[in-house]
Amino acid sequence: MKVSWAELRSHFDNISQIETKFGLYVHFPFCASKCPYCHFYSLPFDKEGKKAWLEGLRKEIGAAARLVGTGLILETIYFGGGTPSLLSPKETANIIAEIKSSFYHEIREITLECNPEAPPDWLKGWKESGVTRLSLGIQSFDDKILKTLGRRHSLEMTWKLLEKAREISFLSVNFDFMTGIPGETDSTVEANLEAVEEFAPQHISVYLLEELEAVPFKTIWEENPVDEELAAERFSAYASSLNKLGYEHYEISNYARPGFECLHNLKYWHYQPFLGMGPAAASHLGLLRWKNIADLKKWQTGLEEGVLWLEEFFSLSREEWLKEKIAFGLRLKSGLDWEQLKVDHPGCDFSAYEKRMYRLVSSGDLKWSGSRVYIPEDKFLLSNSIISSLLF
Ligand code: SF4
Repeated sequence: MKVSWAELRSHFDNISQIETKFGLYVHFPFCASKCPYCHFYSLPFDKEGKKAWLEGLRKEIGAAARLVGTGLILETIYFGGGTPSLLSPKETANIIAEIKSSFYHEIREITLECNPEAPPDWLKGWKESGVTRLSLGIQSFDDKILKTLGRRHSLEMTWKLLEKAREISFLSVNFDFMTGIPGETDSTVEANLEAVEEFAPQHISVYLLEELEAVPFKTIWEENPVDEELAAERFSAYASSLNKLGYEHYEISNYARPGFECLHNLKYWHYQPFLGMGPAAASHLGLLRWKNIADLKKWQTGLEEGVLWLEEFFSLSREEWLKEKIAFGLRLKSGLDWEQLKVDHPGCDFSAYEKRMYRLVSSGDLKWSGSRVYIPEDKFLLSNSIISSLLF
């Protein structure tokens, strides 16, 4: 569906309860090759495609800035994808400059997702362009596992990039790890933890590889099925080892040294507004949600015509809004301030949630502390079912 910026603006005018700070997500939809397990929107990298994306992005930034005016202050930028580390430091700097000159901002963090095969010499340029946080798609410090995953990088490339990051003192570095991979052993986890000890990144994400139907990796899962219990044990092994190394398990899949939590992602879990730029990017402002079409050409031609080509566009009811806020907040170790939630949502009926909540607290699936309710760390892997038992 096509939606004009004026129509979006008319809904935006009706949003009364929005926060004043927001995050901006920039989706770069190109990769050098497609990893067989990946379901994200990404296209084979080519210069013409990148040119079209840069043109579309410029238009989208300008229109979105006019939409929010001076009513919202930009705090965080996150370059995700795709593989945004295919953007040169100069291109990255130009985009950041465009964003800064378009939005009213008090920027506290700029993250760039970076694949380990990126040229180490580019790190300095990214740092100078304003990137404060590198999120490295390392996945594993085991070459055999990287091969199984169909990644383009090797252990050697990862260490070259890390050495450079250390040499130029990149302020904040995240390691993205994956677990639940066919062929993974305890020594895979050990190798990852040894690398953590050696490099001491500020932040670590550990994701369970999700088994999907419609991806080429399906045959690998069929040939070499993952033992779910073992995968859960390994996920917990990361938690206990990383806690010992001084990392706080602040969200189901995320660990950080104190003060290095990802501010942009915290906006999602704290249910604060964000705008998504680029094909397939999602936005959330107050009750309003929209998602750009996952089609570079349509997204770009729409912007040329002065409209947004969307896959989704809807307004949540107050009840749905509350449910989403609870679901996101409970992903955090600190959980939710239940009493504050009631103050913030005066028209909502909390009685059914509270009845279910007391049951979940007595079974140990939820915990109370002061006015906060949270999922205990040893139940993080059950969080989806705990949250849905609370909400429905
Ligand atoms: S590099 Fe990332 S986004 Fe690109 S195909 Fe691989 S997993 Fe997907």
